[in-house]
Amino acid sequence: MAVDPLIELRDVNKYYGTLHVLQNITLTVGRGEVVVVIGPSGSGKSTLCRAINRLEIIESGRIIIDGQELPDEGKALAGLRADVGMVFQSFNLFAHKTVLENVSLAPVKVRKRVKGDADRRSRELLDRVGLADQAEKYPAQLSGGQQQRVAIARALAMDPKALLFDEPTSALDPDMINEVLEVMRQLAREGMTMVVVTHEMGFARSAANRVVFMSDGRIVEDRTPDDFFTAPRSERAKDFLSKIL
Ligand code: ADP
Ligand code: MG
Repeated sequence: MAVDPLIELRDVNKYYGTLHVLQNITLTVGRGEVVVVIGPSGSGKSTLCRAINRLEIIESGRIIIDGQELPDEGKALAGLRADVGMVFQSFNLFAHKTVLENVSLAPVKVRKRVKGDADRRSRELLDRVGLADQAEKYPAQLSGGQQQRVAIARALAMDPKALLFDEPTSALDPDMINEVLEVMRQLAREGMTMVVVTHEMGFARSAANRVVFMSDGRIVEDRTPDDFFTAPRSERAKDFLSKIL
């Protein structure tokens, strides 16, 4: 697929000291595509997500978002960074702000929206993630699954072109995982471009267009979920799947 690339990484390399954490990563994510990234702990999945958003500097290579190369820093970076929303394992909500304020804050501050408009749109987004009735509460009053759905609404409020999810359900109790995955499935159906790091293989099978398997800083396999799960090619992927499935 990837006829209309939205996220492109070309020969990206990153080191932490002597650790070569991203090794010649070349990856294209097409518009509307859902790419699930899996792999053992320490293989570089989080670093990959953070590099896509320039939350990490890279030593070499190119990162192109919707045809525009990401600069290392400066004003242009802030704008392009806002094009790609990010949802983390830890929800990172502002504890002293209401749910509504959490969602409205960045659109007002960064996108310079009028507060009334931002609030209206935030309520729509909260409705979309099933939290219309929680807008005036504080994060601590919500369950983990609800907080993560607020974090998704907050990311959507910036009108991103793509969303990155880094283990969005790993911190959740089992009974809350599905409510978050269901919101993500819905976004996928609506055509949102998504890169999802997850251990939820059911989600990968049902929602992903492609599965990218990483090991030791490299992309080892990049295939359809069907191909990957039924016939992994590399020993590393076979070993990983035998432990997780
Ligand atoms: P994953 O998300 O797949 O578990 P990470 O991207 O978090 O992997 O980490 C990849 C490797 O980089 C690991 O060996 C980790 O210990 C190392 N690493 C991650 N962040 C840092 C950092 N800030 N400084 C030094 N090493 C790091
Ligand atoms: Mg990680």
